[in-house]
Amino acid sequence: MISNFHTPPSIALSPIRAEVDLDALRHNVRVVRGYAGDAAIMAAIKADAYGHGAIQIAKVLQEVDVKHFAVASINEGIELREAGIEEAIYVLGAPIPEALSAYVRHHLVVTISSVEVADAVIATASQTGPFVVHIKVDTGMHRLGVPPGDVPDVLGRLRATPGISVEGIWTHFATVDRTFTLEQLGRFDALVASLDDPPPVMHVANSGTLLFLPETSRERTLVRIGGALYGLVVEHRVGTKEADLQPAMRLVSHVVHLQIVEPGETVSYGRTWTAERQTRIATVSAGYGDGLPRSLSNRGVVGIHGKLYPIVGRLCMDMFMVDVGNPDAAQEVGFGDEVVLFGEGGPSVVELAESIDTIAYELTCGLTHRVPRVYLGEETARAET
Ligand SMILES: *Cc1c(COP(=O)(O)O)cnc(C)c1O
Repeated sequence: MISNFHTPPSIALSPIRAEVDLDALRHNVRVVRGYAGDAAIMAAIKADAYGHGAIQIAKVLQEVDVKHFAVASINEGIELREAGIEEAIYVLGAPIPEALSAYVRHHLVVTISSVEVADAVIATASQTGPFVVHIKVDTGMHRLGVPPGDVPDVLGRLRATPGISVEGIWTHFATVDRTFTLEQLGRFDALVASLDDPPPVMHVANSGTLLFLPETSRERTLVRIGGALYGLVVEHRVGTKEADLQPAMRLVSHVVHLQIVEPGETVSYGRTWTAERQTRIATVSAGYGDGLPRSLSNRGVVGIHGKLYPIVGRLCMDMFMVDVGNPDAAQEVGFGDEVVLFGEGGPSVVELAESIDTIAYELTCGLTHRVPRVYLGEETARAET
């Protein structure tokens, strides 16, 4: 069932669309809650909710009582505020000092991502506060975070400054490798145990660690979850058996042209694929201008009527070609047929990503503005009538 939930009417005219199944999202929230125990979900809706549409996803998550949202940049937080999202919004990325007053104006939680950021917040708190901050601790990822040894001093100085409320402390895992995850967690727990009065809110898990080591998340206040909500994580690959998450996105386009090529003829730019026999080539309306990786050239597959066909030749900005087989056989593929780039009826997003040595996150995040998002789901349809 297609709903017009926040989607412009021109969608029906576009050959390509990303269908977002809101019931799958709701289902995945229930699965994640099962793993998280008493910890509440902080939903990662950065990068336009991994390409699924941040505002729409936030509104559906609000309906199922998600009260915490995470973004990477302040602009993403402001966009959500402007769309009327009033729940807590955490900006997980590092702020630049010039942006600090905007955090206060839009009620966004600041990540104390370094000693330098702590200093900048302390320096401006009296003019621009009140700030709500969470201290990020670097326990081994070595991307952002205050070194554990500096946390007691940073915490003390933040707390001694009027206009700063230190609400939380957290860390981020580099891997779901059990040994190293437990090592990072050990460093975090030792630090927290050494603090006289640790900040009340604590969070450590992302999707991988929640599914792989749920016991490490249950006693925390929050779990920071993105991929699992969108069904981009395959549970059995991270060690658990209840493979129950459902992919929320299905990407489809259409056959817009068909032709027969003779043996020795080549297809697409650079002539990287040569027909070995007479065959039919279908042209599909989708390319790197829609965010598909060019590395799918001569490697990816698509689904047409439930059967997989290989992408042949270089994927172009707006189109790519598929070998749909023997022109003398019964024609299985016709002009205007639906083509599944990933999702039901085609390769799964995880399989497609693995075929080009990337992760599913990159495929959904990469979809550009040109791809309309269409929101599906029984519950939404009911809610609208
Ligand atoms: C994106 C992000 C998450 C969510 O990660 P998933 O693997 O998608 O669950 C959690 N924590 C931080 C710091 C992040 O940047």
